[in-house]
Amino acid sequence: MPESQTIRILVADDEEMMRSLYRQVLEKASGEIDGAYDLVFCDQGEAAVAAARQAVEADRAFAIAFLDIRMPPGRGGLWAAEELRALSDATQIVMVTGYSDVDPETIEQRVPPTDRLLYIQKPFHPFEIRQFASTLAARWRMERRIQEMHEGFERLVEVRTAALQKAYAELEYRATHDELTGLPNRATVIETLSKELNRSARSGRSVAVVMVDIDHFKNINDAHGHLTGDAVLQAIAECMRQLLRPYDTIGRFGGEEFLLVIPECGREEALVIAERLRAGVADQPVALEGQALTVTLSVGVAWSEDARHQDIDTLIAAADRALYRAKEAGRNRVRPDAPG
Ligand SMILES: [Mg+2]
Repeated sequence: MPESQTIRILVADDEEMMRSLYRQVLEKASGEIDGAYDLVFCDQGEAAVAAARQAVEADRAFAIAFLDIRMPPGRGGLWAAEELRALSDATQIVMVTGYSDVDPETIEQRVPPTDRLLYIQKPFHPFEIRQFASTLAARWRMERRIQEMHEGFERLVEVRTAALQKAYAELEYRATHDELTGLPNRATVIETLSKELNRSARSGRSVAVVMVDIDHFKNINDAHGHLTGDAVLQAIAECMRQLLRPYDTIGRFGGEEFLLVIPECGREEALVIAERLRAGVADQPVALEGQALTVTLSVGVAWSEDARHQDIDTLIAAADRALYRAKEAGRNRVRPDAPG
């Protein structure tokens, strides 16, 4: 019989004869239906409460407690019932009395809730004890089973929720990132720029954008094939990511074009960062099938502190114009938006 099926029963009665009556009846009944009884006997209220406390602390609360009302010279069953109730809501208490001086209503008031409190008067037939025990044991097991099912459902919901969250995070990642390079995609980098421009409108600090284009990328594709072209894009993306600070955002803007958004950055600092990108990529040839391929970048820089460039479209257009000028001037170089 599994431990969880064992029904723990506390019996508190000051009379040895009564305790042995309980023992006889309950030991005979134990295991007969569908669960064993684990019996604990006490002769005083204090001992009963101590046993109940120990049981609760061991996470093995009594399922049922038979408490005699009068247990001289110690404290009686009513006091013990209140203490037991304070220790555990779950224990089902049966008050046993041969006297009429404590009426059931008083007991009900002092030991709530009423649905976990029963009342039996001496002299009782031993069979009544057995009926109480088996009925309350069945209810205890049913409550445990419902609780276990409930916990099982909760775990299931947790597992499913975690799986959904993971799937959602993956979907979100795919929707916001470029599959090939792992960089933010065009929509994401534009959204970043939009946020930075809003912030800049409040703070008055410039936002810089840098448009980057891989020189002669078509030639790389034509000479080495598209797979090599993809590998070059991945290598350049990784190289640029390493050259940048974590708070700068570079995204894949189009085929071999990348857009960098630099918050709180004006013309001079933007040009320094752009040059660092250009030089860093030019100095680090891409290793391909045993050969090193030097790849260069043309770079155009624009910034928002120029009053003309305070929305996304004009700022990107300005960076694009500067990129065009870098290409015109012979590629592998950085050009700012306006001359000077
Ligand atoms: Mg007594």
